[in-house]
Amino acid sequence: MARPVVAIVGRPNVGKSTIFNRIIGDRLAIVEDKPGITRDRIYGTSEWNGKPFSIIDTGGIEIDGDDMILKSIRAQAELAIEEADVIVFMCDAKAGITQSDEEVGNLLYRSGKPVLLAVNKVDNLARMDHIYEFYNLGFGDPIGVSGSHGTGVGDLLDAITEHLPELPDDEYDEDVIRVALIGRPNVGKSSLVNAILGEERVIVSNVAGTTRDAIDTPFEKDGQRYVLIDTAGMRKRGKVYESTEKYSVMRAMKAIERADVVLVVINGEEGIIEQDKHVAGYAYEAGKATVFVVNKWDAVEKDDKTMHEFEKKIRDHFLFMTYAPIVFLSALTKQRLHKLLPVVQHAAEQHARRVATHLLNDVVSDAIAINPPPTDKGRRMRINYVTQVAVKPPTIVVFVNDPELMHFSYERYLENKIRAAFDFEGTPIRIFTRRKS
Ligand code: GDP
Ligand code: GDP
Repeated sequence: MARPVVAIVGRPNVGKSTIFNRIIGDRLAIVEDKPGITRDRIYGTSEWNGKPFSIIDTGGIEIDGDDMILKSIRAQAELAIEEADVIVFMCDAKAGITQSDEEVGNLLYRSGKPVLLAVNKVDNLARMDHIYEFYNLGFGDPIGVSGSHGTGVGDLLDAITEHLPELPDDEYDEDVIRVALIGRPNVGKSSLVNAILGEERVIVSNVAGTTRDAIDTPFEKDGQRYVLIDTAGMRKRGKVYESTEKYSVMRAMKAIERADVVLVVINGEEGIIEQDKHVAGYAYEAGKATVFVVNKWDAVEKDDKTMHEFEKKIRDHFLFMTYAPIVFLSALTKQRLHKLLPVVQHAAEQHARRVATHLLNDVVSDAIAINPPPTDKGRRMRINYVTQVAVKPPTIVVFVNDPELMHFSYERYLENKIRAAFDFEGTPIRIFTRRKS
């Protein structure tokens, strides 16, 4: 559901991305070993004191040209003011207050948003004395942190969570399928939206989402209600930062977070590029159902192998998303368009699917009988039972004698067996291993 957004703002080199990585640290570790997921990120999610939030490292946004740094700082601050619920204004204890800090401070001062002043590089006690001068910036008590050592980060997170607002849940009923379309510019997202809605133009004045300035388009097809989320994210308003690639990634992220099903739109004429992988990777990480849409299929010269070859390319590039169905279509000619929504609907159903514990255990027992769990130094992992603890995405806990004995490959094996038995097409599955003897 809607998570409050925290933005880290500050001049270059104060340590924004270091602190950002510490805050999203655990999540990053989960995906590091998975191919195709970006490391060069500016957007992540975290949770502290039981409160989930998203966090943006605005330092990832750079504007070229003269006065590059000044322009970038200004763009970052504007972005934070517009998008964030809580702003972390970061400075550097080693450097003291600089003119750029004052610049940033002036911009944030008028924001009307809660601003927390974090002073980084407080690597030792002696440097704690340096933080007092930062009172002069006028943002109250500075919080001393060290990105290198991790000290003070807990205090910063306490302060952040104290200021997070309670956001209302989306106003849609459970049975409405929330769909986000993501993909690079020009792959045909707007055209696809128009084609789906069967209209010449998207009417933008529909329903204001609960997330600031998200604009949703509800519609109904064959008795199923859907809402297209923030399709107007492609709207151009002319702020400097809106032209940056990282900003569009951020918009996509916000849409993904609110979605049940993410349509990753790929240009069939051009094939797959790195950027496609990044956005798809986010959908995977966020635990959303995903459908690959290969658009502009009308413009592709085809023979009887072309579709199969393209499919293989997608599978090679998105190794961790073999569950996602692929739909080839043309938004322009509407060729095969009718195939899309049934696939979306099916993926949404699987994403929300709950499997009874006894059925799950039957399948896992059979799987164990065929291929026993791994051993390590003479100890064999024993699976006691398995249960599904959550939906959206389906989340399964495997209780074992010793979680250390679980291997990634065995987890994969179990997942494949579970998928073979229960479908789950279109949705990622989370599997956690816990101790219970
Ligand atoms: P950003 O430009 O604000 O995102 O800054 P970075 O996170 O890239 O950090 C800038 C430099 O400061 C890097 O060389 C970091 O290793 C260093 N740095 C970050 N945090 C600390 C810290 O707590 N102490 C010290 N001494 N250096 C740090
Ligand atoms: P967006 O930036 O992803 O929203 O892409 P647009 O919907 O604006 O489309 C970009 C360009 O691709 C436009 O010139 C469209 O007419 C064209 N386009 C979109 N869908 C198709 C399609 O299915 N086939 C062909 N040949 N062109 C398409």
